[in-house]
Amino acid sequence: MPQRSFIRPDFEDLEPYDPKYVACDVMISANENTYGLPEGVKDQMVAAVAEQAFNRYPDPMANGLRDAVAQWHGVGRDNVIIGNGGDELLFNLLFSCGGNGGVLVSCPPEFSIYALYARMAGMRHVPVMRDLATFEVDQAGVEAVAKDARIIIITSPNNPTGNLVDPAWVERLSGMTDALILVDEAYIDFARDEDSCRRLVRDDGNVAVLGTFSKAFALAGVRCGYILAPKSAVDAMSAVRQPYSVDVCAQAIATVAVRNRESFSPILTQIASERERMLAELPAVSSDIQVWPSAANFYTARIPGAHDVWNRLRDEYSVLVRDFSSTPGLEDCLRITVGTPEENDRLVAALAELVKG
Ligand SMILES: *Cc1c(COP(=O)(O)O)cnc(C)c1O
Repeated sequence: MPQRSFIRPDFEDLEPYDPKYVACDVMISANENTYGLPEGVKDQMVAAVAEQAFNRYPDPMANGLRDAVAQWHGVGRDNVIIGNGGDELLFNLLFSCGGNGGVLVSCPPEFSIYALYARMAGMRHVPVMRDLATFEVDQAGVEAVAKDARIIIITSPNNPTGNLVDPAWVERLSGMTDALILVDEAYIDFARDEDSCRRLVRDDGNVAVLGTFSKAFALAGVRCGYILAPKSAVDAMSAVRQPYSVDVCAQAIATVAVRNRESFSPILTQIASERERMLAELPAVSSDIQVWPSAANFYTARIPGAHDVWNRLRDEYSVLVRDFSSTPGLEDCLRITVGTPEENDRLVAALAELVKG
């Protein structure tokens, strides 16, 4: 008997998100903070979790954390929504503000989740490719389609290419369209304060900014992120969200992270300096390796035979990085997370053996 399929026909080719996770000694594939939490902060988080009532539902809107995030970024509580990771909020945004054949404009090569969620939300995706030599946004290309868009997503720093978008251009763009412009700033904590577009978030405006505790704040396992947006967009996302998606533990832990945010800066400084070291050392391993500047905790490297190198790094050296070599525009590219000095040394030593010339 053939097995019956209960899947909706237009989703038959969808596949579960696969991070290609394999346990390795050196895990530098998922842009996690491999340094972990600052001294003492985890103890505070554990204490905060111990105080929670596990038998009670969490505050659906996470108002305590919401206020802490609002104060941090200088916006009102009404301009903040907390989610079960930034990923949940991306879905809720495309679902509640997009949908119904509305156009999503975004700039590949980028986070593949946008196209997937746009499709699930019933949006039409209009990709405007980045310049494939520099990975800069094609500003004229975006402006040309901005009028017809319902949502525009710009990632800054971009994943997987690491480059920033100019906030002054985002501000100009916001005046050219009624679309909601979401700047995905999952990695902005690694960049400078003035690189952020969060100052453009206003109730009477059309700019929103996504942040997460998964990357700089070393809490990928806790699942907590946020969007700063005009109140009307926050209300739209609130109406479609799963009411209790952010549990009491995540709310308590992320609140401790916000209160202690200053104590993360020595780690972020060290990650930036390790990133610069790697961007200098990799091309020195072989003139065949090309790297691009990055404002995040990862960088893209073009290496001849990248897919094979990726396999051998994992199997022979127990070093896991991310293979982007089959992504259009990223032929022969690997995305590498900045690890600790020891992890980075392991990568350099492995590449020195794998890449000759
Ligand atoms: C990691 C990431 C996110 C959000 O991650 P969560 O763990 O779901 O908070 C959003 N956008 C980009 C580009 C990312 O790389």
